[in-house]
Amino acid sequence: MNLTNHIASHVRGIPRSGIRDFFEIVQSMQDVISLGIGEPDFHTPWRIREAAIYSLERGHTGYTSNLGLPKLRERIAQYVSKHFRVGYDPATEIIVTVGVSEAIDLALRALLNPGDEVLYHEPCYVSYNPSVVLAHGVPVAVPTHAADNFRMTAEELAKKITPRSKVLMMNFPCNPTGATQTREELEKIARICIENNLVVLTDEIYSELTYDGATHTSIASLPGMRERTVFLHGFSKAFAMTGFRIGYACAPAPLTEAMMRVHQYAILCANTMAQDAAIEALESGDNDVAMMRKEYEARRNFIVRSFNDLGLPCFTPLGAFYVFPDIRSTGLTSREFSMGLLEKKKVACVPGTAFGASGEGHIRCSYATSLEKIKIAMTRIAEFVAEVRK
Ligand code: PLP
Repeated sequence: MNLTNHIASHVRGIPRSGIRDFFEIVQSMQDVISLGIGEPDFHTPWRIREAAIYSLERGHTGYTSNLGLPKLRERIAQYVSKHFRVGYDPATEIIVTVGVSEAIDLALRALLNPGDEVLYHEPCYVSYNPSVVLAHGVPVAVPTHAADNFRMTAEELAKKITPRSKVLMMNFPCNPTGATQTREELEKIARICIENNLVVLTDEIYSELTYDGATHTSIASLPGMRERTVFLHGFSKAFAMTGFRIGYACAPAPLTEAMMRVHQYAILCANTMAQDAAIEALESGDNDVAMMRKEYEARRNFIVRSFNDLGLPCFTPLGAFYVFPDIRSTGLTSREFSMGLLEKKKVACVPGTAFGASGEGHIRCSYATSLEKIKIAMTRIAEFVAEVRK
């Protein structure tokens, strides 16, 4: 039997993640220093792990409400109100999900009819384009540019709007560029969304990780935006909880209800122990987040300086834990640079094209790894660049 013919054509058409392919090669090698991984190198703070252990000890091993534990939803409402200045009703406007990954999928599946267009800035997180396709939507990339420090501009967004545009997806601080948005630019983008009746999915997963005292503004908090925004957030990055697989979406009640219908049949509820751990994270995790943020900032300063010293221009990102240096002066493509660096110097970074065609000419390096390893990696990168330029 040729099973390939039985696989849905829209699934067959989706390429495998460029990151996964690359890391299968990395895993087959020894002594590689990886600047490729998009997850914190810190262990989950102990109190949060302990909360998961207590959860099991107390026998919290059953399903929860489809929307998630009421106490967790209350804590989420308080946290989002305090940190983002947007109010949500824990009873009807918050759904706990299996990471932001599931929240993105739920929101898209709840919103899209076949053929609806979803705009998103590019380069962007690898899942955006395929998640739209899997929900039968049409992905429309809005390019962002190194000259603008990879901010999405209202002008570029306006150029891509058509009568089929329905949703704008955005993620600032951004994976892979580390870009953030100014409040002024967000206001212009919000105006376009209101004028064109767009729903916005704002992926806030890196919003706690901002540097140089930068303050983060969520588009959901701007006038007229709460009613048309799905606010997506989770615990993976700021609280170093990737393996817990826990996140949430906040949105006006009709949209939350629609997402809940998809979620209740596909997932039922998020993991119960992870929900208990998430309560602890929101109640006591702020100091841990501050400690990790400080460490990331020191690493960012080192890595940005090192790339610029090498003549590989790298703007200073104000958020997330990635840098996105420009490697065009080496004459190599992103993929050639990344493969060459891996083969010759055993340093792994991700080709910018893994995040969309507009990532060409750049590589993504994560500084969610120890400063000691980053220093060794930068010495090896300097050797590689010198050899390529000879
Ligand atoms: N959104 C962005 C921008 C990410 O970078 C990631 C993970 O790297 C995710 C969502 C997925 O997060 P989660 O672990 O909450 O599913």
